[in-house]
Amino acid sequence: MDRRHLLLVLLAAACSSGDASSRRPAGTDSANGAVAEGRTPSMSGGAAAPTADTGGTASANATTGGGAAANLQGRIPVLEYHVIGGDKNTLYTRTAASYRNDLEQAYKLGFRPITITQLLDKNFRDVPAGMSPVVVVFDDASDSQFRYLEQNGKLVVDPTSALGIWEDFAKSHPGWKPRAVFCMLNGGAAGHNFFGDSPKFNGQKREWRFPKVKYLADQGHELCDHTLWHMKLSQYPDAAVQEQIARNAMGIDSAVPGYRIRTMALPYGLWPKNRQLAWQGSWTDPKTKQTHSYKFDAVLEVSGGPTRSPYDPQFNPKSITRIEAIGDDIVKSLTRLQQSNTRMVVGK
Ligand SMILES: [Zn+2]
Repeated sequence: MDRRHLLLVLLAAACSSGDASSRRPAGTDSANGAVAEGRTPSMSGGAAAPTADTGGTASANATTGGGAAANLQGRIPVLEYHVIGGDKNTLYTRTAASYRNDLEQAYKLGFRPITITQLLDKNFRDVPAGMSPVVVVFDDASDSQFRYLEQNGKLVVDPTSALGIWEDFAKSHPGWKPRAVFCMLNGGAAGHNFFGDSPKFNGQKREWRFPKVKYLADQGHELCDHTLWHMKLSQYPDAAVQEQIARNAMGIDSAVPGYRIRTMALPYGLWPKNRQLAWQGSWTDPKTKQTHSYKFDAVLEVSGGPTRSPYDPQFNPKSITRIEAIGDDIVKSLTRLQQSNTRMVVGK
């Protein structure tokens, strides 16, 4: 790998916006903003919302935070994780215990996971009536998110990786389906290459990369473009921006031929100078002379608080805001959304 790229990704390794001072207040403010402007008292009331469902849901799943009246225009939390592991929480590392606790709290509060694709398609079938959707996104494709272990000649998901914890959690939490979103790199440094590209990254083998990506898609998780090596798209010419995005899409297509990528996540939350190139563009491989095009429906920002519902007239799929897993921000945001009745609640 190009040394310059290596350095950039080592420095980055995560998706933060470059300006820490602008990040945290944004998330906090937006969450508060949702309380103020979220919805009318009884129901969302907008033209796009179907009839309020106030009968019958109240009794359902009261112990798990469900049972609220439908609120189709309420906010949807889109959570953002980087590295899972270590022994203390930092900006881009969340301990396994904190991550698991986030899932536990989300479950208790009546949230159930859906993908961005489902959100775009207004497909809330995986969320029981009276409950709320949550989107869980993992950025950067480190081995901490998806590790394999070799056991008696078989590959098993490492139960201490983010995916392993998710799968274990699902066994004891009915309705927690395999609907996470993985925004991956396929040429990042430090093993940020489809979840580890060398045994020095916790024993991960290069040949496991594509099978891992395929496994995620087969399970029902969503695959998302996060560029080749986490380029600051704002600092490069149009051609380089398109190469970064197209080559990540090509990597995903190599792992899962024909997979339709709907979502991309901006590294560091930085937009290219020509914004549209984040979701649509093409790159011609100078070796093969082949042109590779991409076109996505959704772009994920780094921060900004709970995002708007697709039933909200102001919903902008090209700017889906997220909540970073920093400190207690996730549990606080989820709790606030539930207590203030500003979250989206699925009707019958
Ligand atoms: Zn990132």
